Amino acid sequence: MGKYSLTIYDGVNEIGGTKILVENKSELFFLDFGKQHSKWLEYYEYPFSLPKTIDELIYLGLIPPPRNELKNLYTNVIGGEVSDIKDECESKVASCIFSHAHTDHTGYAFLLNRRIKLNFGLCSWRITEARLNYGLKSNIESNYYGFGLENGNINVFKSGSKIEDLDADVTAFAVDHSVPGSYGFLIDLGDVRIAYTGDFRWHGPARNLTSIFADKLKDFDADFIICEGTQFSNINSLTELDVEREAERLIKSSRKLIVANVSPLDIDRLYTFFKVARSCNRVLVLNMKLAAILARLSDLNIMNFPSLNRLLVYYPEKKRLVKWKRSFMAGVAKNEYYSRLSLYEYELGLKFRDLIRAEELISNPDNYILVTSYYSYDELMELYRCSKQMNKFDLLEGGVYIMSTSEPFQEEMEIKFEKLKNWIKILRMMYYPIHSSGHIRPLDLKSFLMEVKAKNIIPIHTEAQNFIENFLKDTNVNVVVPVKGKKISLTCV
Ligand SMILES: [Zn+2]
Repeated sequence: MGKYSLTIYDGVNEIGGTKILVENKSELFFLDFGKQHSKWLEYYEYPFSLPKTIDELIYLGLIPPPRNELKNLYTNVIGGEVSDIKDECESKVASCIFSHAHTDHTGYAFLLNRRIKLNFGLCSWRITEARLNYGLKSNIESNYYGFGLENGNINVFKSGSKIEDLDADVTAFAVDHSVPGSYGFLIDLGDVRIAYTGDFRWHGPARNLTSIFADKLKDFDADFIICEGTQFSNINSLTELDVEREAERLIKSSRKLIVANVSPLDIDRLYTFFKVARSCNRVLVLNMKLAAILARLSDLNIMNFPSLNRLLVYYPEKKRLVKWKRSFMAGVAKNEYYSRLSLYEYELGLKFRDLIRAEELISNPDNYILVTSYYSYDELMELYRCSKQMNKFDLLEGGVYIMSTSEPFQEEMEIKFEKLKNWIKILRMMYYPIHSSGHIRPLDLKSFLMEVKAKNIIPIHTEAQNFIENFLKDTNVNVVVPVKGKKISLTCV
């Protein structure tokens, strides 16, 4: 038997930052290469202070040091510029396979050596591309120069397909999670079989995908299952249907403006609000970035996708807009195209119904649901100022602010959240949390592991690995508790 091992670099006893190194005889590949946001925020703040070099991130312990088998793991930075494939040194790591597009799984991907193949699900790649295009270019983490489909170092895969160019037999299967295009993997190393769930749940609109994955996993008879346990430290037992019912009841009882804070890639949640808006005779209004990302995904046949031509896009008062925003807005407004605009962004904008300004939201508050994200309070500030100018502040009073994403779990988010709450108070809106998690509920995880006849599990992406061990005491599942950066030998089966 050859050498088989796993080394988990981040995401051990913490949520996010997942980086799992798989050793298959002489081949090495990563599952996810994410960013641990809380640790990052100990040193940086978006968008004002950002990392400058890869060495800095290594020194701060935010990414693993490129020693021993990880030699040449990162791109060769020459004179401040990241390298082309031809200027890169040989790396033992052949590939990195991403389970889904959340940045706690993909955030450090573009620091990697350009000889390493990055494998994304099609939808994850589209989302990642959008993030790279709409983000800050000066950030080393989003400098993807040298990576591209045309260079052969970005591969896209679909559910049921095998990952190319690996000796290991790795098959991707779509699972239910709070971003479309999320995958679990079955990994056959020849003598040992492992599986990785990625982030997943069994209570969302796409739970049948998780059931199909469970069937495949049962037949696969994995020796080890690397599984997530996010919910163990913060349990939320609501389903997406519960969110829909509660939101519908709440919105039907209001004649005022509804603002809903939704995680920007949670298309299931957006679709829930799209349905609720229709049943309450309201129209959904999106912020520009959310609308542009959505438009980029509109040809992928995503289940439960809102009809873009029924949606409005909020027009911020800001006078100067960057090129992509100007182009996108011109498309939404159906203005004539001219050569200084980006045709691509203009055409994305054309897919939407129209623009809408703060004045209209204030004048007819019971016609709309305004969707925002990331604890943004810009829109609330603008609505306040505009309503004062119009002398119509009373029309905004008594609205409802639905927090439909998880509440902050980091200090910096906390600070922003406090400001948001203060603006909600100033507008005299009611704060109302209604959320269902993107992660598997503990009881569902137990049923899942029973169903697939799990033998050994390795819990990651959790702050409660010991709880999981206790929680599974009444089963035959053996819990292998990982230690950050320490090799787990897979030859003990
Ligand atoms: Zn996730």
